[in-house]
Amino acid sequence: MIKILLYYKYTKIDNPQEIRDKQYDLCKKLNLKGRILIASEGINGTVGGSPDAVEKYMRETESYPEFKGIEWKISEGPDDAFPRLRVVVREEIVTLGLKRENNDVSLEHKAQYIEPEELLELYEKGEDFVIIDARNEYEARIGKFKNAIYFDIDVFKDLPKQIKKIKNYKDKLVVTYCTGGIRCEKFSAYLREQGFKNVRQLHGGIHRYSEITGGKNFEGLMYVFDGRVHVPVNHVNPKIISKCEICGVEVARYKNCENAECNKRFICCENCEKEMNGACSNECKPKVEYWRKRREEKAKRKMNLSN
Ligand SMILES: [Zn+2]
Ligand SMILES: [Zn+2]
Repeated sequence: MIKILLYYKYTKIDNPQEIRDKQYDLCKKLNLKGRILIASEGINGTVGGSPDAVEKYMRETESYPEFKGIEWKISEGPDDAFPRLRVVVREEIVTLGLKRENNDVSLEHKAQYIEPEELLELYEKGEDFVIIDARNEYEARIGKFKNAIYFDIDVFKDLPKQIKKIKNYKDKLVVTYCTGGIRCEKFSAYLREQGFKNVRQLHGGIHRYSEITGGKNFEGLMYVFDGRVHVPVNHVNPKIISKCEICGVEVARYKNCENAECNKRFICCENCEKEMNGACSNECKPKVEYWRKRREEKAKRKMNLSN
């Protein structure tokens, strides 16, 4: 098992390339893998490695003045959770896609936090509030907060196009959430700029909510962007909300169609995976063998090259 870190911080970075190089060298030295994005607006990363390496990484990163007080979310995962290390400079650490239209949201407008205990209390007391999932559809499909509204999007930057769906809630108490909190910093600012008067964002996202409250009222599993694919959240009243997209049985298990031309992400039980030979549909089924052979040949070539 390795330790996995998830973190972000919005902070002004004057020289992203220099920070990128330092971060890359640090990760290499500690044999950490994962993905780190750096922009002039801050840092956003998820990396994994041995407990000792992760500890050193946190200490070293926090010693940069820019990254003081960064909030770490720590979990465990299998050794192969990350295939490689990528540290890149981007224009933004989270893209809401408004910058190009010269119409970017101002982080100064971000909503006040709501703490996990407070959100739990809203549920427990049956308060009148609207809970909005700022993540992508495939993330919400496998797990989301009870009664949460989510959007039919594959990438965060498409969210503003679907804002119509919630336009009637401008005067209501609106709580937004995402995995670790980063998307809500921008999304909550955007909502407030669009005239939503009473917005709060869940501090630390689902991840921290699970740690602090035990995850009550989160239904299904939390999608994560590493080899684990999804992790449990709710240790109080868990349930499964997703169904096999082939036979309809309740299951929380993602698979990618093995027809590489399709590669569709779908929820699939083990039986159907066997029955369909890893394909998502009858159309894809005959093409699976071809792609499997190609993958094997490619792997063989790689082996020969490295020998
Ligand atoms: Zn099935
Ligand atoms: Zn397919």
